[in-house]
Amino acid sequence: MIRINENYTKLVSTYLFSEVARRVDEFQKSHPDRRIVRLGIGDVTLPLTPAVVAAFQAAVAEMGKDATFRGYGPDLGYDFLRKAIAEGDFRAHGAEVSAEEVFISDGSKCDTANIQELFAVDIRIAIPDPVYPVYVDTNVMAGRTGPWRDGRYGGVIYLDCTEDNGFVPDPPRSRVDLVYLCFPNNPTGATITRAQLAAWVSYARASRALILYDAAYVSYIRDESLPQSIFEIPGSRECAIEFRSFSKTAGFTGTRCAFTVIPKECMAWDAEGGAHPLHELWSRRMSTKFNGVSYPVQRAAAAVYTPQGLKETRGLSDFYLGNAKIIRDRMTGMGFPCIGGEDSPYIWAQVKMDSWKFFDLLLDKAGVVVTPGAGFGACGEGYARISAFNSREKVELAMEKMEAVASELRE
Ligand SMILES: *Cc1c(COP(=O)(O)O)cnc(C)c1O
Repeated sequence: MIRINENYTKLVSTYLFSEVARRVDEFQKSHPDRRIVRLGIGDVTLPLTPAVVAAFQAAVAEMGKDATFRGYGPDLGYDFLRKAIAEGDFRAHGAEVSAEEVFISDGSKCDTANIQELFAVDIRIAIPDPVYPVYVDTNVMAGRTGPWRDGRYGGVIYLDCTEDNGFVPDPPRSRVDLVYLCFPNNPTGATITRAQLAAWVSYARASRALILYDAAYVSYIRDESLPQSIFEIPGSRECAIEFRSFSKTAGFTGTRCAFTVIPKECMAWDAEGGAHPLHELWSRRMSTKFNGVSYPVQRAAAAVYTPQGLKETRGLSDFYLGNAKIIRDRMTGMGFPCIGGEDSPYIWAQVKMDSWKFFDLLLDKAGVVVTPGAGFGACGEGYARISAFNSREKVELAMEKMEAVASELRE
């Protein structure tokens, strides 16, 4: 008899975005002439930029010629891309990262999901609440949690992100082994200061814990006092792994390219206290289970680091940040206190009622779709995530529709 991994049965069934889609569908069916504006899902809307497209096409042409055809690439990524990343994303910002420490992949979702394979099942994990659901769910699948009870999984140390701590959690008093951090944050849009990140690094060093740092939204940081990479913090190379993606930086959500940085000094320990470099374990894992990102996609990603590519992709995040400012200002004007939207494409609005109730009310009254905060964790209750990934016209339209019924959007 073939048996299932019963950890999967612990997963709470309603996946946030499918539940949102289901409710929107139902509404559209019963109101066929209402125009719906979606400020919900975290997917980009602007196309790839010209420099990226040109590199992509040139590489496709190479693949079609005898002399330049390429089969399997290196498992961990082509050197030209690993070097461009180490230089452009890290060394240029004073973070010591070498090309061999960069692992190219087809997405940060897979990387943040798969990395936990390297660790024992009985480690203690700390996960922010609210946050990108992948971190919790993949640990549930791996059997690192108890069952779901009262809105949370047993055995997880949740790091509450609330108004009181400015949506940036402090290290817990209890000891944990693995910590997930995501800044600029999805969903709150909160950023972490250098001092706050340094506090996490010293906590991790003191307890031989590991920080998994998801910087998927790094290109939205405009405040120059904020750290871009955890590797700007002294001492982090021994206790941190960083994940980045071209998805939100360069519009690659449908093209697929990301990378993970594991410094050579970064260790985890066996039961006897023997140290194992995580760089070696992840290399072993990737060369066994992954066959690389396609050559044209890696060429397209490398074009992001050319002067023209940098200028063009900066234009993408500038555009979304322009949307974010409009959303933040106008939501605040309607009486919803907001965070995020300044160094992030997400605005976290305090809606002052049950977040699914607000979702339904907003859809019904204004025809605008946002994401209910509760879907990202218990601490998201009472909030909504509003995404700046849309056209200027749609953002303006959504705000106008909301302003027209603002007085009805309260309890
Ligand atoms: C979008 C996103 C990613 C990137 O995922 P890809 O698989 O690279 O598209 C990673 N982390 C967070 C928090 C995200 O929102």
